[in-house]
Amino acid sequence: MAPPMSASAFLRALKAEGLTVVEVGDWRDHNRNHKGPWGPVNGVMIHHTVTKGSKATVDICRKGYSGLPGPLCHGVITKDGRVHLVGYGRANHAGLGDDDVLRAVIAEKKTFPPDNEANTDGNRHFYGFECENLGDGKDPWPAAQLEAIEKAAAAVCRYHGWNEQSVIGHLEWQPGKVDPRGFTMASMRKRIRDRLK
Ligand SMILES: [Zn+2]
Repeated sequence: MAPPMSASAFLRALKAEGLTVVEVGDWRDHNRNHKGPWGPVNGVMIHHTVTKGSKATVDICRKGYSGLPGPLCHGVITKDGRVHLVGYGRANHAGLGDDDVLRAVIAEKKTFPPDNEANTDGNRHFYGFECENLGDGKDPWPAAQLEAIEKAAAAVCRYHGWNEQSVIGHLEWQPGKVDPRGFTMASMRKRIRDRLK
């Protein structure tokens, strides 16, 4: 449990991890803080977008869509491995998830319980990265993009002193979600663990 880092610290942490970062508009002040709390933060959540094309993907994650206003995450990781900052603060990415999972993330347990309840506000507790992918199980995940996911999650963990068990997929949080699809969170957590060594 921790207060969220500042927008400047977030930017610094991502760059220090070796990422190419694109700052989009007034990302530091674009958030949903008027709708609810942001923090304490407990982890990082990884998503796929079900979109095609970097520009369209960044646009929709910044603005959102009818019924779900943006920002839809903090950073958008496009297929080329760049991280586009579209918002900072409370963002519409995690939705309601399982309190048992949150407790396991806080404890950095080696395994997570099944996400069978939607009773806990995830937008309050998780940093979110949306990753450009169609999510159909066929759209490839380029090496540069997977490396950027690893680095972005590690950057946040490093700042807060968390380990790889503080990084979950949306599918591990909210009943019915399937993202990210095309790589396993176990494999991504192993990469993050190795990077944090
Ligand atoms: Zn998601």
